[in-house]
Amino acid sequence: MPVTPHCYGDEAARRAVRAGVRSIDHGNLVSAEGLAMIEDAGVFLVPTQYTILTDARRAGDDAYWRGKPPYKRAKFVRYGAELEAAAESLAASDVKIAFGTDAGMFPHRDNWREFGAMVSTGISPLRALRAATSVAAELLRLDEVGVLAAGKIADVVAMPGNPFTDIQVTGRVDFVMRSGTVHKRPAG
Ligand SMILES: [Zn+2]
Repeated sequence: MPVTPHCYGDEAARRAVRAGVRSIDHGNLVSAEGLAMIEDAGVFLVPTQYTILTDARRAGDDAYWRGKPPYKRAKFVRYGAELEAAAESLAASDVKIAFGTDAGMFPHRDNWREFGAMVSTGISPLRALRAATSVAAELLRLDEVGVLAAGKIADVVAMPGNPFTDIQVTGRVDFVMRSGTVHKRPAG
């Protein structure tokens, strides 16, 4: 049975890899050595950088934290620099990165923001887009989606711009095709 633990640091990730997990969610404090172990084992990583790095980057923003738990803010103050450094290590690695957002941490309409968060750490736009398409399909063992190719299910989105030069355009999807049926197309 494929298993995905949600964990953050080196020791937890090492134990998970040794136990034979298929993927790890978060891993945001794993060192370069830990990432090498994940990579060598062929384990996928779903870094959920948007939720993690938004909290870390806004650790000093009183308005942002109003109504949120102080203990949580204190953790982001303490680990902010480490989270950024680990995110850069991940970007520099060849770990198989899949796209995920840790359901429930923010409204689902913001899920696309994970693309920008990934790219902000040094992950290339191509790698970020693959994380949500071909690599995600591989992780989930879905053979018929994830790439545009003959014989695959025609699930396609498009946007009014070039995500390779402006990753934020991923938030403006204006064309949606599911199983070959168009559900949304650009106005006019
Ligand atoms: Zn989680």
